[in-house]
Amino acid sequence: MQKEGKKIVVRPDGSLEVPQNPIVCFIEGDGTGRDIWPAAKQVLDAAVSAAYKGGRLIVWKEVLAGEKAFRETGEWLPEATIAAIREHVVAIKGPLTTPVSGGIRSVNVALRQLLDLYACVRPVRYIPGVPSPMKNPEAVNMVIFRENTEDLYAGIEFPAGSSEAEKIIGFLEGMGAKIAPGSGIGIKPMSEKNTRRLVARAVAHAIDHGYGSVTLMHKGNIMKFTEGAFRDWGYKAARELFPDQTLTEAEVFDSFGGKAPEGRVVIKDRIADMLFQQVLLRPEEFGVIAAPNLNGDYISDALAAQAGGLGMAPGANIGDKAAVFEATHGTAPKYAGKDMVNPGSLILSGAMMLDHMGWTEAAALVRETLASAVSSCTVTYDLARQIPGAKTVSCSLFAEGLAESMKS
Ligand code: NAP
Repeated sequence: MQKEGKKIVVRPDGSLEVPQNPIVCFIEGDGTGRDIWPAAKQVLDAAVSAAYKGGRLIVWKEVLAGEKAFRETGEWLPEATIAAIREHVVAIKGPLTTPVSGGIRSVNVALRQLLDLYACVRPVRYIPGVPSPMKNPEAVNMVIFRENTEDLYAGIEFPAGSSEAEKIIGFLEGMGAKIAPGSGIGIKPMSEKNTRRLVARAVAHAIDHGYGSVTLMHKGNIMKFTEGAFRDWGYKAARELFPDQTLTEAEVFDSFGGKAPEGRVVIKDRIADMLFQQVLLRPEEFGVIAAPNLNGDYISDALAAQAGGLGMAPGANIGDKAAVFEATHGTAPKYAGKDMVNPGSLILSGAMMLDHMGWTEAAALVRETLASAVSSCTVTYDLARQIPGAKTVSCSLFAEGLAESMKS
């Protein structure tokens, strides 16, 4: 197998053309990134080698972001990094420090915006043996598609007392709004275009992966022209883009006696506060969830907790031209360099990346091997402290164990 590697290409229909030896970009990450990245890489390489008997190989290309980039180039997110990810289409990253000062609000947010990674995808599936607060955590099997580019997170904010805030208050008062003097102002833009592409991706995922429903999460009873519009645009997108594969919950009751016909994805909506209750009380009723940015942020972490927490939760930020897979936890700086933390989140994000590349056999092998290590109670400190009798291993030994068992 050649070591120099070839580029992954996005075809005109949006699918990927992946060579046998694709170049994949990686960002090591700050803090514990230097512990979990080598561990994850070892496991992903072992899975690809075992699944394809040496016939496929990832050629890794390091690109810089975060503290390492700042040390080496004086920039938190060099333009060369964005250009490389654009050129090579697929990347994986460790966690990055949010600089307290230094001209960039968040490297993570900048990456998403510059590459237009509009869908934050978080699968939440219980791995048997992981400590969970749920009575029946195995019923948790959902994937959240969170809109990544707009909503209150667009960053259009003005501090209380600023001339900008005062100007906006004056303007809105001219339109009849009543706003307390000296208020801070945040703007919540939401568009049909961005809702439509997010919902399209969520529905396509449900169809491709056999999920029975897509739930549009919103607070449209109160915020009618943003969150309510998200719901309406979501239904419209599903109806127009997938007319033969979807139907609404109302249609299921009106025309099919309450039972969805085989092979059709049910599009439903839930008000956000109700959804938080229902995913706890009746998790088996939910498959894919499509949410605006802020709701999606909240529900992602709440659901990850049901499956045992962020330590093992994978994630990805996906756009039409590029995708970046990432550990969902932060840099955990107090453990940096101590070879202690759990590399599970980054390893499972790597499995998502392999799926995205169409290397599903290797992805399945990663998940199976990780699940079997957890069920044999050989785990890193974070899980070991919650599993009576578990054997604690270091980050690197945990990864080495996975890689070795794939070889056999
Ligand atoms: P954090 O880094 O996620 O760490 C909080 C706690 O979570 C840790 O002290 C540890 O708990 C546990 N933890 C995190 N990762 C773990 C792992 N791999 N294995 C086991 N336990 C793990 O959150 P933070 O301290 O709030 O944030 C630190 C920095 O990370 C900040 O600069 C923040 O902005 C950044 N951040 C980056 C991302 C990202 O890049 N996607 C995401 C979130 C935060 P115990 O001490 O109880 O063991």
